[in-house]
Amino acid sequence: MLCVFGEKIFPQRKKKSGFWWNMNVRIGFGQDSHRFLPKGSTKPLILAGVEIPNFPGFDANSDGDVIFHAVTNAISSLTGKPVLGLMADELFKKGIVDSQVYLEHALKDLPPGQIKHLSLSLELKEPKVLPYFESFKQNLSRILGIKKNCVGITAHSGEDLTAFGKGVGAQAHAILTWEDEKEEKHQ
Ligand SMILES: [Zn+2]
Repeated sequence: MLCVFGEKIFPQRKKKSGFWWNMNVRIGFGQDSHRFLPKGSTKPLILAGVEIPNFPGFDANSDGDVIFHAVTNAISSLTGKPVLGLMADELFKKGIVDSQVYLEHALKDLPPGQIKHLSLSLELKEPKVLPYFESFKQNLSRILGIKKNCVGITAHSGEDLTAFGKGVGAQAHAILTWEDEKEEKHQ
């Protein structure tokens, strides 16, 4: 049943390789959340490497970029090598608070292959992030080495049901699609 299902979805792969199951696509999943600092804090709010003006930053050792952290965790879920936590703490001790550095560390752990797509879901009440989506996509596509239209982002307040929706902090979920190089070798 599963094979029939696969052939229906990937008929071109069956034609090219003879075996649709040669495709080695994996899905990484990551989450992160941080609390906002009190209003009036001078720490800047950073999301996907973009500074959002006139809003307090995250209560975190690093810049607390929940988007980069969620993507880093999604990559770690593929590689099995955690970056946030011990490694990020070591980098913080060296004065590195830019979460892009953590994300780049995680990327180095990926075996040869290609990231195909990133889906991001943000939950927060404020600030309104829709005007920054293009900048988020620009940064993420550049760092991940994919096209901008391969980054999808949604944001919502969840009808204020959670602490994120009530404005206490922000949460990000990331789903990363990745394909290894074996597919090319098998053809
Ligand atoms: Zn974090």
